Amino acid sequence: MVRDQKSVTIQSRFATKFKSGYPFIFDEALVEHKTELPEEGALLHLYNAEDGNFIGTGYHGRQTRGLGWVLTRRQDEAIDDAFFERKLKLAFKRRSAFFKSDETTAFRVFNGEGDGFGGLTIDYFDGYYLLNWFSAGAYSFKSAVLNALKQHGAKGVYEKKRYQTGEIVEEDDDFVEGERGSFPLVVKENGIHYAIHLNDGPMVGVFLDQRDVRKRLRLTEAKDKTVLNTFSYTGAFSVAAALGGAAHTTSVDLANRSYSKTIEQFSMNGLDYEAHDIIVQDVFDYFTYAKKKGLLFDLVVLDPPAFARSKKRTFSAKNDYTFLLKEAIALTDKKGSIIASTNVSTLSMEQFKKFVKKAFQESGHSYQIKEEFTLPADFRVTNAYPEGDYLKVLLIEKTT
Ligand code: SAH
Repeated sequence: MVRDQKSVTIQSRFATKFKSGYPFIFDEALVEHKTELPEEGALLHLYNAEDGNFIGTGYHGRQTRGLGWVLTRRQDEAIDDAFFERKLKLAFKRRSAFFKSDETTAFRVFNGEGDGFGGLTIDYFDGYYLLNWFSAGAYSFKSAVLNALKQHGAKGVYEKKRYQTGEIVEEDDDFVEGERGSFPLVVKENGIHYAIHLNDGPMVGVFLDQRDVRKRLRLTEAKDKTVLNTFSYTGAFSVAAALGGAAHTTSVDLANRSYSKTIEQFSMNGLDYEAHDIIVQDVFDYFTYAKKKGLLFDLVVLDPPAFARSKKRTFSAKNDYTFLLKEAIALTDKKGSIIASTNVSTLSMEQFKKFVKKAFQESGHSYQIKEEFTLPADFRVTNAYPEGDYLKVLLIEKTT
């Protein structure tokens, strides 16, 4: 395939940023970002507006606030099949400890710009690979990526397009090649079993980036505790807590599917789901109910999406996290704990801690941060792109 090529001029004040490895071609950096663009997938040769010097080669793959990603800063490096073979080979090598583990069979093998190609992630689920494409431009490299992936052996490959395609595809099971899986696929994470569905919508059952948090919860935080897991999705945190000896867990999620999906995850681990509560409800309504009933928990997990719109309200992590924390603090017993998580990349750990401070001050309680978590090692990030390090999780103890 012959790709379009286009020269793109970068404002000189941003040239050093790209020279030091910044990979995202953000709109503001372009001299004329309103000029006509080549098609998605075209290669972009970036030059400094001031001196005409070469900065790097990237590709056009539109994502929010940006044109695409830089792939190389070497003018003589071709973006061909061999380029992808090199990137994947290195990525797999970096995960060799994960591949050797018997206790963990689900992890990320390729993390976008952290592994040298922004706009694509690849997750491994016990022999199957899931490709996530974040733009049409990224998707245009599919055959090169599949070719490079073949060298690492796969039972089967699935994919999700995480951008607007305009296509209406009925009964799409996201299958790409190899063998079709039989779902649920049962994977292990530090010995916990999780059911994975690669063929049923954008979310597959477990968010792999919380692996270290679930491990900590199970090993040291859950024993004999009553746990409230909010925005619980398939109840992955609840299962970790139950296996860690929690006295009782309550999972709350608005989505109807969360009920059967949580039962499935409990059952995968031989846990009696009927001994636990699985509630389909807006968490803010649940807070009102729990306060009225005088319920208190030893541990509250908060893992909301960045934005959520329900019939009654909109939640935005940036604007409403302090409020969410205050609700959680009110339901946390004396000396209890809160696990507070956010995946908002534009929210720094420092800002997140300010929300915690404000929430405790306004609630009239004191606290101590016992541990901070960011992305696990398989979600490789580059120092040149701190925005890629999106996950922030705090383990907080309510001290008075
Ligand atoms: N904590 C989960 C992942 C959360 S994904 C885990 O560890 O796997 C976000 C979830 O929040 C979705 O399942 C969505 O249905 C739910 N959600 C969004 N808004 C909500 C609300 N107002 N009340 C309850 N759940 C909500």
